[in-house]
Amino acid sequence: MEQDFDIHNQASDGDRDYERALRPGRFEAFSGQEKVVENLRIFVQAARMRGEPLDHLLLHGPPGLGKTTLSTIIANELGVGIKITSGPVLDKPGDLAGILTSLEENDVLFIDEIHRLSHTVEEYLYSAMEDYRIDIMIDKGPGARSVQLSLSPFTLIGATTRSGLLTPPLRARFGIDCHLEYYDHPTLERIILRSASLLGVECSAEAAHEIALRSRGTPRIANALLRRVRDFAQVKGSGRIDPEIARYALEALNIDRYGLNDIDNKLLRTIITKFRGGPVGLSTIATAMGEDPGTIEDVYEPFLIKEGFLKRTPRGREVTELAWSHLNIDLPTLGGLFA
Ligand code: ADP
Repeated sequence: MEQDFDIHNQASDGDRDYERALRPGRFEAFSGQEKVVENLRIFVQAARMRGEPLDHLLLHGPPGLGKTTLSTIIANELGVGIKITSGPVLDKPGDLAGILTSLEENDVLFIDEIHRLSHTVEEYLYSAMEDYRIDIMIDKGPGARSVQLSLSPFTLIGATTRSGLLTPPLRARFGIDCHLEYYDHPTLERIILRSASLLGVECSAEAAHEIALRSRGTPRIANALLRRVRDFAQVKGSGRIDPEIARYALEALNIDRYGLNDIDNKLLRTIITKFRGGPVGLSTIATAMGEDPGTIEDVYEPFLIKEGFLKRTPRGREVTELAWSHLNIDLPTLGGLFA
């Protein structure tokens, strides 16, 4: 059912094939993030010219902005293989050793959510990154011995939504550090039109604009919305995505007109209803919402600040006029809430 589709979350299993089909494979097809892409193109070209692996690279930024996509593009442009894993999956040093020894020369190892690596695995990663070797303990008790494995030179690409959680020694081992920003509407429109053409569905520029406005600055959400709007166009319209059908579908899906998700709205509502709009400290908000303060700070706040719903002040977080009007709350109503 359409209403059950959680448009704002990370990709679910069912969405992965769809995402893969739309994922750009080359820098040319990757829209936006111009500065980051410009630099990466140079680093990739230089590494290729020297026949060396690219420096280890840290990509940080909120979910769905293209960290995995950029990593696969980098591997393609380097003409090397890529292995994809994630911090929580690499549970034991043996898991890490297994994947590292399977890499061929100059390959890319992509570790998503690298801030969630266990301490032990992280420590093993240090020597792998620095000297391309790993010392692994074999057996336990009196028979225990350490064996050194040599690795092929490789590039580690670490992705994280929470770069503040990275330990300084791990962070220091990345030669390149890139931050991905939210996308502006024209760039999202381009991404939507490209995806529509890959899906073989006609979509007008104006309709793409409607979808872009509600995509929370995030390509993953833009593509997910396009997919749902396409369903509406097929069933309720002519199959073509025009502005009318796009608006109809987005209304029916109950998508916030600013693209805010449930947690964005909960954050604004909490500051308004519990703290009269602020200013209020981050940890107080987090406790009131039952959320982790770091996640609020790294994942939710940046978009709300960029779109002008929230301000960071020396005395704490404060919502703006726009947040009050968006949630349709005014001071008299609020008085009622406090009564
Ligand atoms: P992240 O790893 O940051 O969570 P992904 O790389 O998985 O994000 O991107 C999510 C989806 O959004 C991908 O399937 C890809 O198709 C699309 N996407 C992301 N960035 C771009 C971009 N700059 N241009 C076109 N599509 C993009």
